[in-house]
Amino acid sequence: MNLPDIPLAGVIGSPIAHSKSPQLHRHWLKTYGIPGHYIPMNVHADDLERVIRTMPKMGFVGANVTIPHKENVMALADLVTDRAILIGAANTLIFRKDGKIHADNTDGYGFLENLKTGAPDWTAKAGPAAVLGAGGAARAVIASLLDAGVPEIMLSNRTRVRAERLKDDFGSRIRIYDWVQAGNMLDQAALVVNTTSLGMIGKGEMRVPLDGLRRGTVVTDLVYAPLKTKLLETAEQMGCVTVDGLGMLLHQAVPAFERWFGKRPEVDRATRAAALR
Ligand code: NAP
Repeated sequence: MNLPDIPLAGVIGSPIAHSKSPQLHRHWLKTYGIPGHYIPMNVHADDLERVIRTMPKMGFVGANVTIPHKENVMALADLVTDRAILIGAANTLIFRKDGKIHADNTDGYGFLENLKTGAPDWTAKAGPAAVLGAGGAARAVIASLLDAGVPEIMLSNRTRVRAERLKDDFGSRIRIYDWVQAGNMLDQAALVVNTTSLGMIGKGEMRVPLDGLRRGTVVTDLVYAPLKTKLLETAEQMGCVTVDGLGMLLHQAVPAFERWFGKRPEVDRATRAAALR
């Protein structure tokens, strides 16, 4: 008797021990009774191609990709989605039955779904968005906000040239502010997003003056360790609507899980609890 193959998936990065993706996907596999496995894999850049070419032969149906491989992995894929090309990075691989490797970026989707869930009254047309940071995560956030119809994005990054590169790629709806002037964006913003690593445990604190924040403005932080960053704490005290970053991590995983394991998973309280374990 032939037993069915057990589908495997995992996350490739270096380092990888901190990743919450294994807890998350394993929670969904258990919840839906799917006989699959999800494995963290610490892969060195020199081994990336060999590992990725071997995985489908070992029963892998796909993988998440994280730092430092999100950009390099695109060159190894046969098909790359337009949004991954625009963002310049992929976080999800699908190993198709025909042998082709498909690369996508679901961070922007995860960001918007988290925002819609955490701030249901926010609409893209509500007004300009202020984005702090211009790294890889900022590119996914900006692509999704522009796609959703935000009229203008005010962007500030410590290294200005990185923000300028982003404006070159994403176009005229972006207005750049010097990092020392970042606080000046806030009183015009309907939405404020921190995409820098500032505020994360072990990193520095955000020093952007927040006194310009208006009551009712939606403020979200991509940092989720701690869950309530100083930015969110201050914004909450000032009467803003705050959305933490954990939901983005959970929602970006939904399309991948569905493609690999054939079931669209729910993001609910139990999912959050599983990721925080
Ligand atoms: P990245 O490409 O390395 O970019 C880091 C960003 O932080 C850059 O804008 C950088 O500015 C800024 N930064 C770092 N240290 C700074 C400092 N001391 N002062 C001012 N700015 C500073 O990283 P990333 O992939 O975009 O990730 C950024 C953050 O988002 C990380 O904390 C990551 O964990 C989080 N994230 C969360 C999710 C989620 O699902 N919630 C998803 C993706 C990322 P420079 O350009 O000047 O260096």
